[in-house]
Amino acid sequence: MAGETPSRARRAMPASRAIAITVTAALIAASQPALSQPKGPGPNGGLPLIRDSEIEQLMRDYTAPILKAAGLAQQNVQVVLINERVFNAFVMDGRRIFINVGALMDAKTPNEIIGVLAHETGHMAGGHLSRMREQMANAQTAAIIAMLLGVGAAVGAATTGGTAGANMGQIAPAMIQGPQEMVRRSLLSYVRAQEEAADRAGVKFLNATQQSAKGMYLTFKRFADDQLVISSRIDPYQQTHPMPRERMAALEDLIKTNAYWDKKDPPELQLRHDMMRAKLSGFLDRPDTVARKYPSTDTTLPARYARAISAYRTSNLSSALAQIDALIQAQPNNPYFHELKGQALLESAHPGEAIAPLRRAVALAPNATLIRIMLGQALVATGENKHSDEAISLLRVAMQREPEVSEVYSQLAMAYGRKGDIADADLASAQAALARGDQKTARELAARAKTRFPTGSPGWVRADDIVGLKEAKSGIFGSPKFTIGPVQRGPATTGPTQ
Ligand SMILES: [Zn+2]
Repeated sequence: MAGETPSRARRAMPASRAIAITVTAALIAASQPALSQPKGPGPNGGLPLIRDSEIEQLMRDYTAPILKAAGLAQQNVQVVLINERVFNAFVMDGRRIFINVGALMDAKTPNEIIGVLAHETGHMAGGHLSRMREQMANAQTAAIIAMLLGVGAAVGAATTGGTAGANMGQIAPAMIQGPQEMVRRSLLSYVRAQEEAADRAGVKFLNATQQSAKGMYLTFKRFADDQLVISSRIDPYQQTHPMPRERMAALEDLIKTNAYWDKKDPPELQLRHDMMRAKLSGFLDRPDTVARKYPSTDTTLPARYARAISAYRTSNLSSALAQIDALIQAQPNNPYFHELKGQALLESAHPGEAIAPLRRAVALAPNATLIRIMLGQALVATGENKHSDEAISLLRVAMQREPEVSEVYSQLAMAYGRKGDIADADLASAQAALARGDQKTARELAARAKTRFPTGSPGWVRADDIVGLKEAKSGIFGSPKFTIGPVQRGPATTGPTQ
């Protein structure tokens, strides 16, 4: 049921080669950061994230049963979308699974992504060394080695006082001249043990949720095959997930326990998946690529979605609106079609006209905070004070749910300012600066806000908190360099809103 089973001989032979490839590539990358993928922290320490209500909801629906099976349902685990086109997925802590949009665009079925998410959930449930996995992703081998040594892998002498991260320059040369094979072996066996544990857990979660392990298996098999063939090109997913033959063989044994191998994704889930891929293509691909992937002869809903988005991205508003209206006619209760219409109008400077479709979208998807933010933005952008109160109430709810999105505070500041509420406008501006990572401006604005509030009032207390901030909190979410939609969106820290 699982394709061919490798022979004993094949199992035994190429593993060490695969291991060497992984580590060697990592060593090269450490001295030439340009080779390392995914890109490390961006200009302000930010990963290039993508926020989108529709895709995030789909990811929640993909992960919810898996997380429940893993006993992590209460942990508010989120799937964070990274705007990278290469296939990758990883975990760094117990709260977030990162996945590149490239993986979503590559995966033809929900099951392929669900399988990857099940594997990553396996890492999370196993409490695997998240810091090491992050370093693997960044191909900073010296740091990995230092960390392993710190963890107690039995290679002593090489750490001349260095700790992970602090003294990488000292450790790296030592390791290169030192007992490389030993280090490689201990490093890779450690990583492989984690990978095999994550595979086992992943298949267990898929079994428990009555889902096929086919997508997970085929995804890993593809990478394992590539790894042996293409030694010059190392994908980041291979770096974070070394796939020697032993692991594939173990996985092949494992999937025999999967009674749902031939079970297909439900058609409605497949459609949502196809819509997601179409959306990503519409937003991220060049118009000619969209036209090639989704030619006008393709009249399916996903193809029409991709073309409508591409039309609006290329400033062809009237054509885009006609296409979006046709989509709305096909599915009048799809909140994301109304959202798209509102977004197209808002971004082409028709905020007044954007309000009605965005209100409809919010009504259809009351928990979609990002759509609320966009409606608040449209209301503010009209410049009419009669919309200020509605905008403020929408944005205040959004602020509770998505406290790291700087745009929420900027919009709030404008709405308060228009009402003449200067104290709250200053406080919101301070919070916007804080969310952007600009603590200096945040403190200055908060100090000014403090003088305008009655002493001890809630606004005064919040302003006082900001004035008193000392340390820079540099999150990976500092500055998303790309977002879908007009809103500079940061991630939720409050967890899924439904
Ligand atoms: Zn893994």
